[in-house]
Amino acid sequence: MTVRRTLPHKQIRTVGAWCFVDHYGPDAQSMVVPPHPHIGLQTVSWLLEGEVEHRDSVGSVQTVLPGELNIMTAGHGITHSEYSVSRGLLHGIQLWVALTDAHRDRPPSFAHYADLPQSGGVQVLVGEFAGLTSPAEVFSPLVGAQVTGRCDVAIEPDFEYAVLAVAGSATVNGYSVPHGGLQYLGWGMDRLVIDGDQTLVLGGEPLQEHLVMWWNFVARSHEEIVQARYEYEAGAARFGPVTADPRPFLPAPPMPTVTLKPRPNR
Ligand code: MN
Repeated sequence: MTVRRTLPHKQIRTVGAWCFVDHYGPDAQSMVVPPHPHIGLQTVSWLLEGEVEHRDSVGSVQTVLPGELNIMTAGHGITHSEYSVSRGLLHGIQLWVALTDAHRDRPPSFAHYADLPQSGGVQVLVGEFAGLTSPAEVFSPLVGAQVTGRCDVAIEPDFEYAVLAVAGSATVNGYSVPHGGLQYLGWGMDRLVIDGDQTLVLGGEPLQEHLVMWWNFVARSHEEIVQARYEYEAGAARFGPVTADPRPFLPAPPMPTVTLKPRPNR
């Protein structure tokens, strides 16, 4: 499957607390991601086509369909798996939100939202956009919204924003964004004007904390990553079995030979 990773980028590592954006497909349904761990983040799973089944170590078994939201809070530690389950095309976006220091050690949890607020081509995944507010729980000032067609809306000057052209190219505040491109807009604006087939708006208060990201872990130091990897490989309670998934856990890759260092966000 074709995957376009637009975040983290060499120069821009986060947009608000958004720290990872993978845009995949449309392609034949072929998602097979066996049980693997996460710490210190929320995963936001968003589909445009297809169907994916999520299972995790807090007891969830949940199918996600286009226009629905799966949001998993890894906190201190969780294990999950994802498999595409229907024929036809799969097209979606896998996003991660870094949990801030105050929340990153919280207990893991999972939530599914089948009826997110929408109006006039706008559907809000998290936060508030175009007067609509998502019920999804996030832990820092953040927004994620899908826009179909045109929009001209007031935005939060204290937030930084980026827009992903999900289907077709787009024009965003005067910038031409090619299909699959993520246009970073910075902060200090009070309007967002988009014209495109389908776009995803990502924004939030600029994250002040410097992250250490390795494999599926978001932490603050090399030592935390080493510890999480060790506990996962040792089968510690922190990374429990995935409900109704007998597949073996994905092995963790070896640690890099260099010490991982916190990075500035831009
Ligand atoms: Mn995952």
